[in-house]
Parts: sequence; structure tokens; C-alpha cells
Amino acid sequence: MLYLDIRKNKDMINETELKSGYFIYGNKGNVWENTAHIYKSGQGNLCGTPALATNHAKFNGIKVAGCVECSKEYSELMEHQYWIDKKEDLMEG
Ligand SMILES: [Zn+2]
Repeated sequence: MLYLDIRKNKDMINETELKSGYFIYGNKGNVWENTAHIYKSGQGNLCGTPALATNHAKFNGIKVAGCVECSKEYSELMEHQYWIDKKEDLMEG
């Protein structure tokens, strides 16, 4: 029986937080170590790690991006997007 040590902290991005076009990606090692990446559709993992193998994170039901780099990158992207949206609202408003 496999027990995963889910060390969820506030910096980790949950699958439910991801916008469309982003998903959790991980190879076997990522599943074991709980370091799944955030994959951007058509581009690759946010931290730059190549995503070549089968998405084991998906098959193993991993719901959290444990990769610190990806989580940080995603947070920054979303913060950036927030201000773009806000600027557009102001211009339209
Ligand atoms: Zn990553």
C-alpha cells in the first residue's frame, strides 16, 4: 500500500485553482516526491522541466502542484493577469 506524504502548504497550487489551459503534470518521480508541476497547455511546465513522459500525476489522482518553482510562477502569472483584467475594466468602465 502506498502512503503519500502530502505536505500541502499555502504556496502550493491546488488543481481546483488552475484556470483552463493549465493542469497538474508529473512523472513517476514527481508522484513519489509530491513535486508535480503545473503544465500550460501547448507550452510545457511553468518551471521549464521537460514534460515528456506519461502524466502519472493524473493517473495517480495528484491534486496539488508540489513543484515550488511552478507554484511560484503560476502565482505570479495570475497576479499579473489580475492587474491586466483590472486595467481593462477601468478602460471599459
Ligand atoms: Zn515545476
